[in-house]
Amino acid sequence: MDPVSIVISRQATGPTPPTAANAGAPNALRTRVSEVVAQMGPPPWSKRIIADERQLVTLIASAPGGGNRPHWHREFDEWWVVLAGRLQWELTGGVVVHAAKDDIVWVPRGAVHHILNVGTEMSLRLAVAMPPANHYFSPCEQCGYTDDGPREWCA
Ligand SMILES: [Zn+2]
Repeated sequence: MDPVSIVISRQATGPTPPTAANAGAPNALRTRVSEVVAQMGPPPWSKRIIADERQLVTLIASAPGGGNRPHWHREFDEWWVVLAGRLQWELTGGVVVHAAKDDIVWVPRGAVHHILNVGTEMSLRLAVAMPPANHYFSPCEQCGYTDDGPREWCA
């Protein structure tokens, strides 16, 4: 398999005021999670918070019983910070990770991750992925979830 390269086209040449920041998402100097939640309304939704050549950070809300489409990544490890609710990660190989507010979950490349809100409240997780963030669908080997959606996509 060919190695994957990234290109960093914009480089700072010295100390620089943060003029690259946006007034709002993505890449605001400060994001208040409570304001995003109020703007986005009831789940499910996702909001890109930070995006550059090396990171894609997304705030994701799920309703009880909701979650993602199970998938795996070829060239990056993904991790999340749980900000609210109770979530479960079903992973390749029979591993289940339970997480709640303030927990950090890390999943290495290749492991299918099927994320479910197993609580009774809206869940919030901050997902940290790396561009180009290609997603490869794979049915959940644990719960059998599958669907007819796209087999590959880029987030
Ligand atoms: Zn993923």
